Amino acid sequence: MLLKPTRLLLLGAPGSGKGTISKRLLDNFTQLKSIASGDVLRTQISNGTSIGKKAETYLKSGALVPDIIMIDLITKQLKDQNLLQSNASWLLDGFPRTFNQAEQLTKVLEANNSNLNLVVELDVNQDIILQRIESRYVHLPSGRIYNLDYNPPREPFKDDITGEPLTKRDDDTAEVFSKRLDKYNEEIKPMREYFQHLGIWHKVSGNTSDIIYPKVEKLVISDN
Ligand code: AMP
Repeated sequence: MLLKPTRLLLLGAPGSGKGTISKRLLDNFTQLKSIASGDVLRTQISNGTSIGKKAETYLKSGALVPDIIMIDLITKQLKDQNLLQSNASWLLDGFPRTFNQAEQLTKVLEANNSNLNLVVELDVNQDIILQRIESRYVHLPSGRIYNLDYNPPREPFKDDITGEPLTKRDDDTAEVFSKRLDKYNEEIKPMREYFQHLGIWHKVSGNTSDIIYPKVEKLVISDN
């Protein structure tokens, strides 16, 4: 139970478990809402919107979608979900991903009197991430994530809740994935410094979500 509004950013390399940690936070803190930028983009692509068409090639190649598109898209999501209010509690997963996005987001939030109060960077060994990624499957409509090795669906290749088929992300191949990791490593440093400077940055280390989750939960509770 959250006593005051929580506005949290989850940072971490692709495959570091941001989606899994988000899901557990949403299950345990029912006031929290979430926006996962990758899920928002994949929905735009599967709906064939003009943003989806623009974004598709970037996702396929593992490159970042231009900041201007991302900032508009996520600001609109925050507005549409009524999250740009000082009493709303939410987390963002996958956005911001560049220093510019971080600065622009802070401006939008400040203007709406709903500043961030917590930034958590998930620190997972990147060799382990690379080993895991080829067995990652997703349920596109919900963003639920499975891993065939250590978090398999109850029925093979079917979502536990809806029974709908699971899919492999196009960008979860070894080649595209290592490009995404390189890009993350390049972008994270200035963003980390930015949030450290604001005094809201924390790092949580561990190689499984079971190790990481309790530490994130503790931060959310102690900040509250
Ligand atoms: P994710 O599901 O968070 O791993 O994101 C999948 C892909 O969507 C990334 O590899 C990028 O191509 C794109 N993407 C997601 N979030 C962002 C963002 N904040 N900025 C730029 N591109 C993004």
